[in-house]
Amino acid sequence: MNQGLYINGEWTMGRGVASREIINPFNRKVIATVAEGTREDTQDAIAAAREAFDYGPWPRLKASERAALVRALGDAVQEHREELASLESLDTGKTLEESRWDMDDIAGIFRYYADIAVTDMADAPIDSPVADSTSTIVREPVGVCGQISPWNYPLLQASWKMAPALAAGCTLVIKPSEITPLTTIRITELAQEVGFPRGVINLVLGAGNPVGAELAESLDVDLISFTGGIETGRKIMQAASGNAKKIALELGGKNPNIVFADANLETAVDYALNAVFFHAGQICSAGARLLLESSIHDDFVFALRARMERIVIGNGMTEGTQMGPLISEQHRDKVERAIQLGRQEGATLLSGGTRPTNPELQDGFFVLPTLFTDCTSSMRIVQEEVFGPVITVERFESEDEALRLANDTTYGLSAGFWTNDAQRQQRMSRGLRFGTVWVNDFNVYFVQAPWGGYKQSGIGRELGRAGLEEYLETKHVFQNLAPKSLNWFGR
Ligand code: NAD
Repeated sequence: MNQGLYINGEWTMGRGVASREIINPFNRKVIATVAEGTREDTQDAIAAAREAFDYGPWPRLKASERAALVRALGDAVQEHREELASLESLDTGKTLEESRWDMDDIAGIFRYYADIAVTDMADAPIDSPVADSTSTIVREPVGVCGQISPWNYPLLQASWKMAPALAAGCTLVIKPSEITPLTTIRITELAQEVGFPRGVINLVLGAGNPVGAELAESLDVDLISFTGGIETGRKIMQAASGNAKKIALELGGKNPNIVFADANLETAVDYALNAVFFHAGQICSAGARLLLESSIHDDFVFALRARMERIVIGNGMTEGTQMGPLISEQHRDKVERAIQLGRQEGATLLSGGTRPTNPELQDGFFVLPTLFTDCTSSMRIVQEEVFGPVITVERFESEDEALRLANDTTYGLSAGFWTNDAQRQQRMSRGLRFGTVWVNDFNVYFVQAPWGGYKQSGIGRELGRAGLEEYLETKHVFQNLAPKSLNWFGR
């Protein structure tokens, strides 16, 4: 596999001399050493994407011609599913089963955007109020896109950006997280094999600053799409203001999972575990904030605790592992600081909170599944995104209180609730101010449904038709079929 940057159809180690070791978070072993891109490399990649957009064939092809290549890339992902899934699990620590699901999703995402771009980019005539004229709405690609992805779902998040941009006819420079670049390198190789024209897809590896910062600042980039944390999101908004480029931000979340007493409690416990311990809680939509109706609180917590203490933690590459390590030492430190803070704030640590003692897990960045009860909405452990296997529990007495507590957050990515009362289902779905609301479920995504956040969880939407819209401009073409003199001036 290549270990460098891909600029204007060529693999290169870049202009710099630095490289970066990519670590398996289960055992700290080096799995690859890749080039570290510089600001100048990023400028080269942007220039290639600019040239390909302004003068190359890609934006000028028919949508159906582009769709054939986009679909072929989806097919290539499907063909290389096992290889890509292994790379993803080695790089992130997540279980192989999760990585396989990711690859199936990714193949489907490329195929979906190949299909809908053909219909959604068709010219649409509209009624012109002017005699002897036609009026047409034309959809065109936005231009050169800078795309910055995070480490938790490296290739899935990249594909949410790459697939609609390519189907729309944009050219792009993608920058994966510096700690998880391997599957994005591999899909770039697959795109080269499939035959995308030079300059359409460019890949730059390296640190957020300078590589991501250059993408956000560059006057030659027309759109910046970013998935990551709120602090970085703010910097990107500022940097993007230089040429008022379009911005799409998918940021963090602190997502409530609300259980009413009339719900099926066994199922709700089961889903509450998946909601927060999947990928060791490193999911933007993790249901890390559990809200329980008081009458079921004690039984629910008892059942939850019993099951979370049986979670099999270990190597994501080993069959039977249910939860892998955290991504890095630095991230584990952050999660441990949050746990410490929860204790200081007076939450009751009922389970976990420490590293596992199993000698086989000592080299990995593990933290045990952690349960805090007696939490209140003013606590930072309840309000701030921990991005680890940590669940906080609050009580509520009424539907109104549940809704008020759930909406009491600066985030607005996703929320779930559990009840069998049909009217309450309606009221709660409308009352929750989040981009996605799950009723009697949690963490369901599919490519047809838009994904994105209210409030400080982001700007814009990925997936669904809205995900393609982000990469399209709207042009109105008015044609006068019989121009006559106006004789307004200088008669
Ligand atoms: P991060 O913000 O640290 O980094 C994300 C990306 O931004 C990386 O590629 C990084 O190199 C780059 N970056 C860092 N500084 C930059 C700068 N100054 N300019 C430009 N780019 C820069 O986030 P992370 O730790 O990789 O990811 C975790 C965060 O991502 C969490 O907050 C999580 O909730 C969020 N996330 C959101 C979604 C969603 O769909 N809303 C999905 C996945 C992750």
